[in-house]
Amino acid sequence: MCERCSQLKLVSCFHSPWEYMQTVEYIKGLISSGDFSLVSGNCPIDEVKDENGKFADDIIYHLIRCETCGQEFSCCVNTYRGGGSFSKGR
Ligand SMILES: [Zn+2]
Repeated sequence: MCERCSQLKLVSCFHSPWEYMQTVEYIKGLISSGDFSLVSGNCPIDEVKDENGKFADDIIYHLIRCETCGQEFSCCVNTYRGGGSFSKGR
Protein backbone atom coordinates (compact mmCIF):
# COMPACT_ATOMS: atom_id res chain seq x y z
CA MET A 1 0.00 0.00 0.00
CA CYS A 2 1.14 3.56 -0.63
CA GLU A 3 0.76 6.80 1.29
CA ARG A 4 -2.57 7.48 -0.40
CA CYS A 5 -4.44 4.22 0.05
CA SER A 6 -3.08 3.54 3.54
CA GLN A 7 -5.32 6.45 4.59
CA LEU A 8 -8.51 4.79 3.36
CA LYS A 9 -11.27 4.45 5.91
CA LEU A 10 -11.82 0.70 5.83
CA VAL A 11 -14.75 -0.99 7.57
CA SER A 12 -14.12 -4.42 9.07
CA CYS A 13 -17.83 -5.17 9.45
CA PHE A 14 -20.98 -3.36 8.35
CA HIS A 15 -23.40 -3.17 11.25
CA SER A 16 -26.28 -1.67 9.31
CA PRO A 17 -27.48 -0.99 5.76
CA TRP A 18 -26.87 2.68 6.55
CA GLU A 19 -23.21 2.00 7.29
CA TYR A 20 -22.89 0.20 3.96
CA MET A 21 -24.54 3.08 2.08
CA GLN A 22 -22.16 5.54 3.76
CA THR A 23 -19.27 3.43 2.48
CA VAL A 24 -20.73 3.32 -1.03
CA GLU A 25 -20.90 7.12 -1.03
CA TYR A 26 -17.31 7.23 0.21
CA ILE A 27 -16.17 4.88 -2.56
CA LYS A 28 -18.01 6.91 -5.21
CA GLY A 29 -16.07 9.94 -4.00
CA LEU A 30 -12.78 8.03 -4.22
CA ILE A 31 -13.54 7.04 -7.80
CA SER A 32 -14.64 10.50 -8.90
CA SER A 33 -11.51 12.01 -7.37
CA GLY A 34 -9.49 9.93 -9.84
CA ASP A 35 -7.28 8.43 -7.12
CA PHE A 36 -9.05 5.08 -7.37
CA SER A 37 -10.69 3.23 -10.22
CA LEU A 38 -13.52 0.74 -10.24
CA VAL A 39 -12.21 -2.67 -11.33
CA SER A 40 -15.37 -4.75 -11.16
CA GLY A 41 -18.68 -5.18 -9.43
CA ASN A 42 -21.95 -6.99 -9.86
CA CYS A 43 -23.97 -3.81 -10.32
CA PRO A 44 -23.26 -0.15 -11.11
CA ILE A 45 -21.85 1.57 -8.00
CA ASP A 46 -24.55 4.25 -8.15
CA GLU A 47 -27.33 1.68 -8.47
CA VAL A 48 -26.85 -0.51 -5.38
CA LYS A 49 -30.41 0.54 -4.52
CA ASP A 50 -33.19 1.13 -7.00
CA GLU A 51 -35.60 4.07 -6.88
CA ASN A 52 -37.79 2.15 -4.40
CA GLY A 53 -34.91 1.65 -1.99
CA LYS A 54 -34.54 -2.04 -2.79
CA PHE A 55 -31.02 -3.45 -3.00
CA ALA A 56 -29.83 -4.66 -6.40
CA ASP A 57 -28.96 -8.14 -5.13
CA ASP A 58 -28.59 -10.27 -1.98
CA ILE A 59 -24.83 -9.96 -2.27
CA ILE A 60 -23.31 -6.83 -3.73
CA TYR A 61 -19.61 -6.40 -4.30
CA HIS A 62 -17.31 -3.85 -5.83
CA LEU A 63 -13.58 -3.95 -6.35
CA ILE A 64 -11.51 -0.77 -6.58
CA ARG A 65 -7.83 -0.21 -7.24
CA CYS A 66 -5.46 2.47 -6.05
CA GLU A 67 -4.21 4.34 -9.13
CA THR A 68 -0.91 5.08 -7.42
CA CYS A 69 0.26 1.63 -6.33
CA GLY A 70 -2.29 -0.83 -7.75
CA GLN A 71 -3.46 -2.18 -4.39
CA GLU A 72 -7.00 -3.52 -4.60
CA PHE A 73 -9.80 -3.09 -2.07
CA SER A 74 -13.12 -4.85 -2.02
CA CYS A 75 -16.47 -3.76 -0.68
CA CYS A 76 -18.90 -6.61 -0.18
CA VAL A 77 -22.22 -6.72 1.61
CA ASN A 78 -24.84 -9.36 2.22
CA THR A 79 -28.07 -7.37 2.06
CA TYR A 80 -30.13 -10.44 2.95
CA ARG A 81 -28.41 -11.73 6.08
CA GLY A 82 -26.43 -8.61 6.94
CA GLY A 83 -22.69 -8.27 7.28
CA GLY A 84 -19.90 -7.50 4.90
CA SER A 85 -16.85 -5.28 4.83
CA PHE A 86 -14.71 -2.80 2.98
CA SER A 87 -11.25 -4.26 3.18
CA LYS A 88 -7.88 -4.70 1.55
CA GLY A 89 -7.58 -7.31 -1.18
CA ARG A 90 -10.20 -9.20 -3.12
ZN1 LIG B 1 -1.96 2.90 -3.07
